[in-house]
Amino acid sequence: MATPKPDTTTLPFSKYPAWTLSKLRPLALQKIQAVHDWVETKCIPAQGIMKAQLAKDRWKMPPLMRQLRAEAKARGLFNLFLPKEFKESPGLTNLEYACCAEIMGRVYWAAQTMNCHAPETGNIELLAKYCNDEQKEKWLYPLLRGEFASAYSMTEPDVASSDATNISISIQRQGDSYVMNGRKLFANAKWNPDVKLYILMGCTDPHNPDPRRRHSMLLIPSDTPGFRMRQNLSIMGYDCAPEGHGEYIYEDVRVPVSNVILGEGRAFEIAQGRLGPGRIHHCMRLIGQGELAYEYALVRATDGRKKPRGKLIGEFDSNIERIAQMRLELDALRLVVFNAADTMDALGNKSGRYGIAQSKILVPVTVARIIDECMQLYGGQGLTQHTPLPEMWTYARFVRVADGPDAAHRHQVGRDQLKTAGDVVARHLRYYEIAQELKKQFGLEEELADDCTWEYIKPKL
Ligand SMILES: Cc1cc2nc3c(=O)[nH]c(=O)nc-3n(C[C@H](O)[C@H](O)[C@H](O)COP(=O)(O)OP(=O)(O)OC[C@H]3O[C@@H](n4cnc5c(N)ncnc54)[C@H](O)[C@@H]3O)c2cc1C
Repeated sequence: MATPKPDTTTLPFSKYPAWTLSKLRPLALQKIQAVHDWVETKCIPAQGIMKAQLAKDRWKMPPLMRQLRAEAKARGLFNLFLPKEFKESPGLTNLEYACCAEIMGRVYWAAQTMNCHAPETGNIELLAKYCNDEQKEKWLYPLLRGEFASAYSMTEPDVASSDATNISISIQRQGDSYVMNGRKLFANAKWNPDVKLYILMGCTDPHNPDPRRRHSMLLIPSDTPGFRMRQNLSIMGYDCAPEGHGEYIYEDVRVPVSNVILGEGRAFEIAQGRLGPGRIHHCMRLIGQGELAYEYALVRATDGRKKPRGKLIGEFDSNIERIAQMRLELDALRLVVFNAADTMDALGNKSGRYGIAQSKILVPVTVARIIDECMQLYGGQGLTQHTPLPEMWTYARFVRVADGPDAAHRHQVGRDQLKTAGDVVARHLRYYEIAQELKKQFGLEEELADDCTWEYIKPKL
């Protein structure tokens, strides 16, 4: 029997603009509906149970997560993020997957039940795009099957890592091996026994005149001798277990030369290829978090037990306006990210650069502000574990930095915009010329001799 077509007038589809709905193919409509049903019934109600299981053993995947992953895989919900140009992909476009990512984002760990969490998504895409067949057999396919977890190791404590040309951990070739020495920060915690692979970016050729050819990426098995996790870095006080964020020491760590990805000196092109879709996923998941926070706000605004000055919190004009503002901003953010995903589908990841930067700049900061407003509506409880709002805010805050700080994106957008100034000046000079012709035509040259309208463009004449 054919699967019935989902009702696009109800959630989750009712939030999508008409142009997006018109681009969702039947396969996508069904996957989006299935992800929605999964998160609504299996993830949101299970949050307390996941926390309780994790409290018993902080650095192991909780039994519930293992069970949900097996079930999601059996339902065909694994790896939906992998774009359709990969032969291993379940076939969704970036736009179609963006819809799924928002739903997954409603619960921080829901994406992991579907093998769609960071850094796995970026790592899998990297391995699918750049690894040879042997490397894929060893690392990519088991990751796609969800047999173990991987980490991405680029950031360092001693340099400004948002500029990848600074990455300095030393990788030296010795015979058939590469030997590494140095320090790294943030890659997921080695304390979690599921993490079997680290993708490391390091410096193989520090004196190469082209700074974009100095670095290489290597596959590092987590049990390689000399590779040590010194401590877990807490994020605003949260340990983020069982994934965590480690501080690492590499001391004469040795791997075979065959562990290099794509070839020596190719890390830059790999790193650039890795990040585009991942930023879209983070942003959509954050919009999902923002939507859930907003729902919490609606609950509190209409809670009959909470009546300052005898009125519901949602009866104060200032709060009615707050709720409107949150709604408008969440819908606007969704449009921004959908547009970035659609541009990547239509014109490729490179053309999506502006949309990706726009998303990365606008979404985390705005969602963090929205969650902050929701905390405020909850009063003191909003800052406690009585709501998930503090953790949600922390997630939004860290996405402002993780995968490249928003400041770096603003810098790039501003620089690109300034490059358009030449065209803008040319257009304004043309307006000036037309204005002079019009003055002549209407005989106003003398009357408008002191016209200062064009003062701003005169230095360019
Ligand atoms: C929760 C979390 C998880 C992370 N996970 C990982 C991971 O799995 N793997 C990994 O390798 N890294 C990870 N990171 C690290 C993250 O990617 C880096 O912190 C980030 O890229 C910034 O690099 P940096 O910390 O070296 O800051 P720096 O490069 O020193 O930058 C510091 C600040 O300088 C400013 N700045 C930088 N560039 C510009 C610019 N062009 N214009 C204006 N201002 C600028 C910004 O305000 C920026 O925040 C994670 C970080 C966090 C918080």
